[in-house]
Order: sequence, then structure tokens, then C-alpha cells
Amino acid sequence: MTGEKQPFLVMAAPDELAAFAKRAGLESYRANQVERWISKRWTADPDAMTDLSQSVRQKLREGFLCDTVKIRSEHFSSDGAGKLLLELRDGELIECALIPAADGRMTFCLSTQVGCPVRCAFCSSGAGGFVRNLDAGEIVEQFFCACRKINSLPDNVVIMGIGEPLLNLDNLIAALERICDPARIAFAARRVTISTSGWTPGIKQLALHGRQWNLAVSLHAPDDKTRALLIPTKFRRDIRDIIQACRLHREATTRLPTFEYVMLDSVNDSTEQAARLAKLAKEAGAKVNLIPYNKANGAFARPSRETIKRFENTLKSAGVKVTVRVEKGADSAAACGQLRASAKKEKPS
Ligand code: SAH
Ligand code: SF4
Repeated sequence: MTGEKQPFLVMAAPDELAAFAKRAGLESYRANQVERWISKRWTADPDAMTDLSQSVRQKLREGFLCDTVKIRSEHFSSDGAGKLLLELRDGELIECALIPAADGRMTFCLSTQVGCPVRCAFCSSGAGGFVRNLDAGEIVEQFFCACRKINSLPDNVVIMGIGEPLLNLDNLIAALERICDPARIAFAARRVTISTSGWTPGIKQLALHGRQWNLAVSLHAPDDKTRALLIPTKFRRDIRDIIQACRLHREATTRLPTFEYVMLDSVNDSTEQAARLAKLAKEAGAKVNLIPYNKANGAFARPSRETIKRFENTLKSAGVKVTVRVEKGADSAAACGQLRASAKKEKPS
């Protein structure tokens, strides 16, 4: 953002912390203390660093952007799923979801942008338009807010919150490198999944980058004509190119891609469409994740349980691995972007 010269404290490398300590006339072990607070306790708030004197804390604040992401509100539902509405330093809002599985494993769902430029017809995140990218430091701080909430690292991270991650790829890569750095937090790359609406230049860049982050592509339709009803032209790429980019990513990372498929009544839920999707999935070596539509934007409806089952079975009998997303947090505005959208509406203008 304009006018800010300091780097984010969460993004400072150990040697940068050491250089800072030297410049500030501090003992060198102070840098290690700060590193421990950040990487082991997931905090960038100097006031939480209780073994540092007030003057050291003050120097940190002068040298770095500290603790810029704040929890504005928390929304936990009876099934244990939760959402944090987070406020950024310029007052913008994002969401981060905490999704526990029945076996106790925890997944964090992170946002990468304020709003979304892609503006899919069924999604709340794009409805209000695009405001700005998150900085790498904001993505890491967001992750830290969720870690502090459960006092632990999660088992999985999915980049499926607000925004199109591959349109903010440099910052996302920097944030994930920070989280996955083996010498620091050491979160396993294979436990990270990046979801994209199919932005092929970004998929190719990710493939070249070569980390074993998983790729999920929001396909939503097995043909470009139906897909065009859902994803506006500007950022939509042809299915052919998407399949090719997926294969490139798979060769570079050895990870199997996932196709996400929001199920919309009478739009993309026919048996014929399931058969065509199965063909594409086999071509790309992809698993399929069916997501029953959550009432949000646009004039869409969720197909019946029977229709979803029939669609699932068509894929299965074609030999495709398929899961149906289990509803979580239905009572706390489940689909990403809904909480932010309603908070914005409540805000007096
Ligand atoms: N922009 C990326 C990642 C964020 S959206 C992408 O589109 O993949 C994460 C997933 O939630 C996408 O598959 C998206 O299609 C889906 N989604 C968005 N709005 C939804 C809704 N109202 N109901 C069900 N799924 C939705
Ligand atoms: Fe953006 Fe993904 Fe929502 Fe489409 S579905 S508007 S790409 S966040």
C-alpha cells in the first residue's frame, strides 16, 4: 500500500531479523526470541512478546508492520465449523474459515484478495467487485489468526476463500513459502491446495515453481458454452487449455489435480454432463469434488439430493474418484464471501 516503507514482521527472514537487531543496537539473541514468537507462537504483536522489553517492542514497531490483521468477529456453528471475519489495516474485510472433519482433522480456508475480479455468476466474493490484493504478510497473518484460535497448526490449508489466488500469485507464493519453509514453520507443501477458477497463465507459473502444492480447478461445466454462463469472459480460459495446464502441473509436481464442480439445478447437473465431465477428469487424471450450491448470488438453485447422487454415480461408474462436499457451518453463512458481503451491507454508509 502507498506510503508504507516497512516490511511485514511475519515476512522477515532470520537474517533480516538479525540485521534489524544489530541496527537497533540489540543483543543478537533478541532476533531469535522474535523468530520464536512468530514461527512457534504465530504472533506478530510485539506486546505479546513478553520476554522483550518495552523499548525492544517499540523498535520492532518502528522497523516493521506488526500485527496488522485483527479479528473483527467470529462465527462458529453447532458442527464446530467456524469463520473469522478479519479486518485489515485499511479497514477492508476478508474471511478465513476453520473446518474440522469428523476425524478431528482441521482445515483452514484462506482468502487471497479483497473481493474478486473474476465475478462468477453464483459467488458472493465477486459480487461487490475487486478491491485489492492481499500482501504476502497479510496472508501469513491471516493464517496465524486461525492458528492462535485453535492453538495449533492445522492439518490442511486450502486457498479457497475470497479471491482468485492465481491473480495474486507472487504474494501467495511468498506467503506459502514462508509457511512451508522447512527451517521455520515447516508446514508440508502436500497439505496445501490452491483453488483457481482456471487461470491458465497462473497454473503454468505454479507448475514452473514446482512445489508440491495441490491444484484444484473450478471447472463447473464440461463444455465452454455452459461455463460461459457462469464465469465472465475476461478471466475465463478454454477447457482445452485448462486441461493442458493441469497436465503440466501434474508432471511438474506429481500431484493429482481436483476439479471442483458447483452443482446448479438444470444448469450443469444432467447425466450427459456428468459423462462429459468424467471424460475430462480421466484425461487430466483429476479427482472431482462436487459442491452443492449454497444460496448466494444470482438466480440459481441447488439440485435435489437424488440428482446429485445420480451425477456422482455416473462419475463413479466411469472410474472417476469423486467426493461430495459435506455441508459445514450451514448456520454461519457457509459459502466464502457471504460473511464479508453481509458485514458490508450492515456497515452504515
Ligand atoms: N477463486 C477460486 C477460489 C475461491 S472460490 C475459485 O474460484 O476456485 C472456492 C470454491 O467455492 C470455488 O470452487 C467456487 O466455485 C465455490 N463457490 C463459490 N460460491 C459458491 C456458492 N455460492 N456455492 C457453492 N460453492 C461456491
Ligand atoms: Fe472469484 Fe472464485 Fe468467486 Fe469466481 S468463485 S468470483 S473466481 S472467488
